[in-house]
Amino acid sequence: VEEPDAEVFERYPEAPLDRDNIEYYKGLLRHELRFNRCQDCGHWMDTPRDLCPECWSHDVAPEPVSGRGSVYMLTWLHQGPAELGGNYEEPFPLVSVELAEQRALRLTTWIVNARREDLTVGREMELVWIDRAGAPVPAFQPAGEEARS
Ligand SMILES: [Zn+2]
Repeated sequence: VEEPDAEVFERYPEAPLDRDNIEYYKGLLRHELRFNRCQDCGHWMDTPRDLCPECWSHDVAPEPVSGRGSVYMLTWLHQGPAELGGNYEEPFPLVSVELAEQRALRLTTWIVNARREDLTVGREMELVWIDRAGAPVPAFQPAGEEARS
């Protein structure tokens, strides 16, 4: 059963919703992290576009990813989007996770259940779901960790 668009608007009032990304947010409500994927050549896209940059096909549809990945880029922020800091005190970890599905398919998002020393480039990570303002959003924790929250 597909959620009506109205529910997405209600649960993610801060999200810049539009025709291209609403499927992404509908997926979040179901605890599915979905990216657009070309149905002709299988290429994943980390932007909500409807044209495949590899083969120019317009046959693009959202598909859920496995939730496995690794730390691609790690920055410690001494100020700035406390939003992304989650439960961390400054400095906040700003992590870009490269998903296992494809090189360069990346997501920058919240990190949970990780000690600072756990966060290194290349560290295997896995998807978990956290609640932000009453709606589920994707976060990552070191793979194989028990949830400690
Ligand atoms: Zn393609």
